[in-house]
Amino acid sequence: VKPLDTLVHALRRAVDEAPDRDFLAYFDGRLTYAEVDELSDSVAGHLAARGLERGDRVAILLQNSPLFVLALLGAWKAGAIVVPVNPMYKSGEVGHVLRDAEVTALICADRAWESYLRETAAGSPVRIVLTACELDFQTRGDARVLSFERQPQSADAADLTTVARAGYEAPHGRDLTPSDIALISYTSGTSGTPKGATNTHGNIMYNAERQRTGLALPDGPVYYALAPLFHITGMVCQLGACLDSVGTLVLTYRFEAGVVLAAFAEHRPHYTVGPSTAFMALAAHPDATADHFSSFVNISSGGAPVPPALVEKFRAGFGPYIRNGYGLTECTAPCASVPPGLEAPVDPVSGTLAVGLPGPESVVRIVDDQGREVPFGEQGEILVRGPQVVPGYWRRPDATAETFPDGELRTGDIGFMDEQGWLYVVDRKKDMINASGFKVWPREVEDVLYTHPAVREAAVVGVPDGYRGETVKAYISLRPGAETDPDELAVYCKERLAAYKYPRQVEILPDLPKTASGKILRRELRSRRQASE
Ligand code: ATP
Repeated sequence: VKPLDTLVHALRRAVDEAPDRDFLAYFDGRLTYAEVDELSDSVAGHLAARGLERGDRVAILLQNSPLFVLALLGAWKAGAIVVPVNPMYKSGEVGHVLRDAEVTALICADRAWESYLRETAAGSPVRIVLTACELDFQTRGDARVLSFERQPQSADAADLTTVARAGYEAPHGRDLTPSDIALISYTSGTSGTPKGATNTHGNIMYNAERQRTGLALPDGPVYYALAPLFHITGMVCQLGACLDSVGTLVLTYRFEAGVVLAAFAEHRPHYTVGPSTAFMALAAHPDATADHFSSFVNISSGGAPVPPALVEKFRAGFGPYIRNGYGLTECTAPCASVPPGLEAPVDPVSGTLAVGLPGPESVVRIVDDQGREVPFGEQGEILVRGPQVVPGYWRRPDATAETFPDGELRTGDIGFMDEQGWLYVVDRKKDMINASGFKVWPREVEDVLYTHPAVREAAVVGVPDGYRGETVKAYISLRPGAETDPDELAVYCKERLAAYKYPRQVEILPDLPKTASGKILRRELRSRRQASE
């Protein structure tokens, strides 16, 4: 095993080993390892020339494109800490991040700069701006972004592609170490204001290495970036693992099922990882065939519950077995996964699919409310200790002490472990529904709904009820052409679940609200209900 270093070191190794291998593929454009190295050197040199110092923060708001990777590697080569921000964030959310992380440099799409970010950045510490022409679906297939023909648009911002090809030399003496902070990853802030988890280079490298060694992919593997790179899963399990294994990363801007399938057919990827909702959307697409998935050696899904029915339907319809994986931003993506050659068991009592086995150097404990470890099979809060657990939150000693007592991560998830060491996630502690004093875990009800042939997506929440305190409500979206109605779905669940668990209310929506990383937003469904009252 190589000693841990950083992804910048991994890039150097890759350039030595295979300078002319394609590192990034974007529609009809390609960049080799040597090219990415040179272009990101130039981004680093430009940032340093404009006064960016080691440890300064650089925020990146870009979708999955080569420019994201050039911005990221360039910022790291300049010794900076990167703050990846969801480009769909609204002004107030971005403003909070820019101020909280004291961001010095901002790298974003030129359209976003013109339309709202210039104003957002005005009252913040940002003093260096690079804008990028991102290709969207209207202009895809147009490789200008790689041939650098586009002219800079803004007088107050430098153009990223121009900067990348300007040939600046990367600054010397800014070598990173594994204990340096690589990223400040903001949580979505369901409990209070968003906090920045500080993922170190060592945290990232550890999980990237585990992915590389654990996936059993061929030499020169092709990765497809289904998850967004601004989310920790995409960053570590796709970009990080790909770079560490000197593979090719296929990028196609942002998720759109038809575009993804076309990219599978063209690039024949060996590996991808995404939220379960992405696989549901792919499976429901009229163009999807088993052929689209025949090149995959491995497919993982994590970051959100994986219904067992999805895994079975997917295997029956398309061939591959979807491997579950469990992780949080605070543990730099996965801390438990299903190793190749094994299949995750389903708990016979609750019907829950195991999320995986903890990694060899990670210790997972399940504790009760008093912090005592519970026996196998019993539920409690999941705690994680290991090389991927972040040292804490950015400048939040209070929240750090609360979430990482003694360096151990309190996940806020309820789960249990079986005697073979398989970990099961029951649900988030805060999403529990209390119906007449009975505990109902939304995920268990959702798993049942997913076995119904008409159901595409399901989300279950608790809604106020004068009689029970709370009652169970299901929101559903249907597969194209499928027919059913709320009553039929309620009866279907009633036949399969205890009386207090089945949804008394079912509402069918065209689509369920999701985060940019594809997670269904139960909290938005809860507030939607309140708003409509
Ligand atoms: P925030 O913490 O701000 O609410 P978030 O929790 O969605 O945002 P992430 O770190 O992306 O932020 O998500 C981690 C959570 O996702 C876990 O705590 C867990 O609830 C859920 N999760 C991740 N993987 C799985 C899985 N395989 N099965 C079930 N739930 C999962």
